[in-house]
Amino acid sequence: MPHNVSVSDETSDETPVCSAKGCRADAVWVLAWNNPKIHTPERRKTWLACEEHREHLSQFLGVRGFLKDVVTLAEWRSAGSAADR
Ligand SMILES: [Zn+2]
Repeated sequence: MPHNVSVSDETSDETPVCSAKGCRADAVWVLAWNNPKIHTPERRKTWLACEEHREHLSQFLGVRGFLKDVVTLAEWRSAGSAADR
């Protein structure tokens, strides 16, 4: 788990908000990621992002090679838990 961004670990069914530190905006995007050092390859951790923070959070994960997928929250939910996408 990266240390300098404060996020919740999992998506929840109640009023999802952006995972960026201090941001309380409604989440629009789901960033699916995996840290190969601590997660099995099929495992997906998720961060939520509003429009404003999607790029920031994807870059944070992207430069570490963790980012696997970025989809809208609606898409993510319609795909079910999508643990193995
Ligand atoms: Zn945000």
